[in-house]
Amino acid sequence: MARCIRFVKEHDLEFSVRSGGHDYVGKSICDGGLVIDLSGNSIEIDPAENTAIVGSVVRWGAFDEVAQKHGQATTGATVSTVGIAGYTLGGGTGFLARKHGLALDNLLSARVVTTFGESLLASEHHLQDLFWAIRGGSGNFGVVTSFEFKLHEVAPEITAGQIVFPFEQAGDVLRFYRDFMRDAPEEITCYAFFLNATPVDAFPESYHGKTVLSLVTAYIGGSKTRQKRTRTPPERWRAGFKHYSADTLHRSPHHV
Ligand SMILES: Cc1cc2nc3c(=O)[nH]c(=O)nc-3n(C[C@H](O)[C@H](O)[C@H](O)COP(=O)(O)OP(=O)(O)OC[C@H]3O[C@@H](n4cnc5c(N)ncnc54)[C@H](O)[C@@H]3O)c2cc1C
Repeated sequence: MARCIRFVKEHDLEFSVRSGGHDYVGKSICDGGLVIDLSGNSIEIDPAENTAIVGSVVRWGAFDEVAQKHGQATTGATVSTVGIAGYTLGGGTGFLARKHGLALDNLLSARVVTTFGESLLASEHHLQDLFWAIRGGSGNFGVVTSFEFKLHEVAPEITAGQIVFPFEQAGDVLRFYRDFMRDAPEEITCYAFFLNATPVDAFPESYHGKTVLSLVTAYIGGSKTRQKRTRTPPERWRAGFKHYSADTLHRSPHHV
């Protein structure tokens, strides 16, 4: 990495850094310059300390699979192919966020290569300013080659699903959503958003091509807690929720 940085400086080139490649506007691919496509894909779990050191090109699906062998996970993207790097450096919200915070809250340290070609370890105890800056500041402060995360115990089973409503029901549904989430247990995370339903199996045919309201939800608590603490939505809401093994945690429910 340090050699790449020195090379682009010597040759006065543009460069960009690519990890999971999920930037919405393609910022990780520059024109006419050098794309540094990272390849450090190691995942080291320390189950006793509840920590993981993860190479920056790793994607959430791969990280989950390894961490779940120890019954652990940390907040990650809701789609398994998103890269941990761009996601974490931008803040990172996901299904564990209500209980365990954003990805940046779970970051313990990061190895950063600066534009001077130095490799630095930033943490709460060392280079605090740099550590503060990379948590939300995206890739503007150097290239991160590995991340150390705090892990949490997550039950071997989660409940997740997507509920889709016709646009006309959006007012009623969003009012219920607002009231329900106000005092919902922290184990429940639910995203509400409008989308245009593409003609795929995840949506009933009658929805294809229409704007619909989607609630994507995951419940990460155990089954006893689930029965005791969650309220059932009104009957007219067809949930069709399923149980999944937690190693699919950061796959979108309609992808699992
Ligand atoms: C399908 C999809 C689902 C998503 N789901 C979520 C979600 O649930 N929650 C959420 O919070 N966000 C989500 N996002 C947004 C996603 O977190 C951001 O787009 C993120 O920047 C993608 O990171 P990446 O590593 O995959 O992308 P890349 O395109 O590789 O990188 C994104 C940016 O980070 C920079 N960068 C990449 N790696 C490094 C590095 N190692 N060091 C320094 N800079 C680097 C790149 O240069 C670029 O500017 C989603 C995006 C998509 C497309």
